[in-house]
Amino acid sequence: MALSNKFSRRSFIRTSSIGVGTLVLGPALISLAASSAKKKLGIALVGLGSYSSGQLAPALQHTKNCYLAGIVTGTPAKAADWAKRYNIPQKNIYNYQNFDEIASNPAIDIVYVVLPVFMHKEFTIRAAKAGKHVICEKPMALNAKDCEEMITACKRAGRLLSIGYRLHFEPHNMEVMRLGQQKVLGKITHIDTGNGFIYNGDPNAWRLKKALAGGGALMDMGIYSIQGSRYTLGQEPVAVKAMQEKNRPDFFKEVDETVFWQMEFPGGFKTTGKSSYNNDWSYLKVEAELGNFQLGPAYGYGSIEGSVNGDAMKFPQIIQQAAQMDDFADCVIANKPSRVPGEEGLKDMKVVDAIYRSLDSGKWENIV
Ligand code: NAD
Repeated sequence: MALSNKFSRRSFIRTSSIGVGTLVLGPALISLAASSAKKKLGIALVGLGSYSSGQLAPALQHTKNCYLAGIVTGTPAKAADWAKRYNIPQKNIYNYQNFDEIASNPAIDIVYVVLPVFMHKEFTIRAAKAGKHVICEKPMALNAKDCEEMITACKRAGRLLSIGYRLHFEPHNMEVMRLGQQKVLGKITHIDTGNGFIYNGDPNAWRLKKALAGGGALMDMGIYSIQGSRYTLGQEPVAVKAMQEKNRPDFFKEVDETVFWQMEFPGGFKTTGKSSYNNDWSYLKVEAELGNFQLGPAYGYGSIEGSVNGDAMKFPQIIQQAAQMDDFADCVIANKPSRVPGEEGLKDMKVVDAIYRSLDSGKWENIV
């Protein structure tokens, strides 16, 4: 009860802000007031699985520039539950079949694709064709070629595309970007990073099917390790060499369990990275000429900790998804590119594609 009152009050504030200005101000000031009054953009979440229900919808209760306006789901019971819980009107609820009708719904500005990986391309392109700006979850798509099609479709539709890279808005990770890219401790001499968890979920889940997930822990968790090296250096890798290990081959029949790789950057500098569905890893360790800095836990959406030369970083823990979605809404309002556009997802998928090629060939593979 208290929850629904809160949301009704929020919707009232949202819809009434320009109206109040109209009553109080003279005509000359009305247009100024209207243009500076920042409308909260409506987001529709597509796919109401664990990330949408556990993280994104709760985060959308803390956003300033956007709000949870709509949902797209294949499960009618979820639609009813979410409608009640988040005060979502029936006109803003779609399923996967009638999704394209969202084109004529002005309440939805941004579509957020939170589906299994094999559905990212289809729903990103359908959303762009429906005239909506898009956030697509990581990993962006099954492969780099699909990422390129998604970027082209959004460009063609004149809509912004962003990837759900929440850590670009997280203070400890942003500090690592500053320290590394601005060479605050001098030239970087070593980077080692890993991300993983011990997967004991449903053996029939989409994450374990190659056709649905594209791959295993490398796609799901390794993308953060790849990102960590890339944003610490502020450079793009040119080649990779990888190897893998499987301790539970019966469980990980179709997808990778643990992958180790070296990534080479221009000039020959090499970083090491790893991903796993069989190890609890979340760290980024950097050594530089004048000291070291590290994160651990580095990549989750719980608490992130870091240190520089042994001294703890003192940054607040934030709701990363709220910061990420607010920033994208701000980009849409200001018509400026996101700091994590589709091109950022494409760069990571080019690395992932090359790592899979290296696992097959056993050799260094160029990132193309
Ligand atoms: P999930 O399995 O919990 O949810 C997937 C949703 O898709 C479910 O609601 C399911 O009903 C729906 N769906 C529709 N068609 C389906 C099909 N054919 N097979 C399976 N499910 C189908 O997954 P999740 O953990 O919510 O992940 C969704 C996306 O979000 C993935 O791309 C994942 O990588 C990403 N994710 C990102 C983060 C992050 O920190 N950025 C965290 C978790 C998940």
